[in-house]
Amino acid sequence: MSRLVVLGGAESGVGAAVLAKVKGYDVFLSDKDKIKEEYAKTLREWQIPFEEGHHTGSLILNADEVVKSPGIPSTAPMVCALREQGTHIISEIEFAARFDNAKKICITGSNGKTTTTSLIHYLLKEAGLNVGLGGNIGKSYAFQVATEKHDYYVLEISSFQLDDIYDFRPDIAIITNITPDHLDRYDHNMENYVRAKFKITQNLRPEDCFIFDSDDAITIDHLSKIVLQARMLPFSQQKEVRQGAFLSGEQIVLRYGEDETRIYLEDLALGGKHNIYNSMAAALAAKASGIGDDVIRHSLKTFQAIEHRLEPVLNIKDVLYINDSKATNIDAAWYALECQTRPVVWIVGGTDKGNDYSILNKVVKDKVKAIVCLGVDNAKIHAAFEGMVGSDNIVDTLSAEDAVRAASGFAGKGDVVLLSPCCASFDLFKNYEDRGKKFKEAVRRL
Ligand code: ADP
Repeated sequence: MSRLVVLGGAESGVGAAVLAKVKGYDVFLSDKDKIKEEYAKTLREWQIPFEEGHHTGSLILNADEVVKSPGIPSTAPMVCALREQGTHIISEIEFAARFDNAKKICITGSNGKTTTTSLIHYLLKEAGLNVGLGGNIGKSYAFQVATEKHDYYVLEISSFQLDDIYDFRPDIAIITNITPDHLDRYDHNMENYVRAKFKITQNLRPEDCFIFDSDDAITIDHLSKIVLQARMLPFSQQKEVRQGAFLSGEQIVLRYGEDETRIYLEDLALGGKHNIYNSMAAALAAKASGIGDDVIRHSLKTFQAIEHRLEPVLNIKDVLYINDSKATNIDAAWYALECQTRPVVWIVGGTDKGNDYSILNKVVKDKVKAIVCLGVDNAKIHAAFEGMVGSDNIVDTLSAEDAVRAASGFAGKGDVVLLSPCCASFDLFKNYEDRGKKFKEAVRRL
């Protein structure tokens, strides 16, 4: 019996362990930290031996193959020891794909992954296809391969999950865009980060599709340096493309083979320039999956906003409160501000990731009337924007409750209160979901 050791006991690691068990491997899972109870419970239910709080070398180094969870850096001592002795290390998606022949639509990129993935999943479902949704969203891909049977998978994939793939091959690969984020994991080297994202394309065949943002300079620059055999489907809001998607006046034009489809922007459920990109990418994936134009139009019109992504919360006294807690970087916040058509009271701040706020100067000048800082250290935000909104229109708060109260004080009829923090949440909250939920509770209590 082949011995498979899984490092990391969260969603993807536990999924891989369950799949290995189902496929008859001698499987063992090890996590250096404590394993969450829900995952420990799953491991016990499936009778998978595991350890937590430490790695026992003798139980790991005898593996025939190792699945490494994406959260574990490749520089971790146990990973180095395995590599040194020549043990093959793979990622969860690489392992799962060995046992699955469904068609895979895989989405990576810096921003817009979850939105685009969810949108494509919705499109395929509306078309009546038997489709699973996984990767970074919901259940891991491996767990679904172990316990369900689908004809299609739509998978959101982070660059960390791509680090250890070899034969993994999507039928349709999408890179939404590439902007600096998580650079710390790539030695602060942009080239490494870009290469990591582009691994999604490494096994594409001529009959597979590659969907990408041709307005994104980093993507285009990298494409000019590599050779891809796949069918190329760019999307652009700046120029016409021969194949792919582009804007023509108030319409999206989709060109796929001989086919041309037009969709009115006003018929898109998701607002904002960034969501035009996401809708284009999703519509192209649907086209490439053979889905009819009527279903594509209908689905793009009826898709519901996802929680924490420009999610409208409530309208109180003609002030609209919007939760965009997932905007944890400058680029995401730029799009959120850019698409506002009413004066904005902006709730911003948190754990700064080396943000260059000057990118937001124009959009803040144009749209923002007051700023509520929600973070422990707001010095950089004051330095960047106090001059623009005036010192009377910027305040510091330390809780969602206080932030919402302060924002409602600034907001008048017809304004928008937008939580789009462009920072991580860890100074005051557990994560961005916690921040978004506390924001919504505070709004509902107003
Ligand atoms: P991801 O899964 O890549 O983090 P999400 O779809 O969850 O992306 O969106 C994260 C944030 O980025 C949200 O605040 C959203 O408003 C913004 N966003 C979504 N799509 C794009 C895009 N194509 N370009 C830039 N920002 C985007």
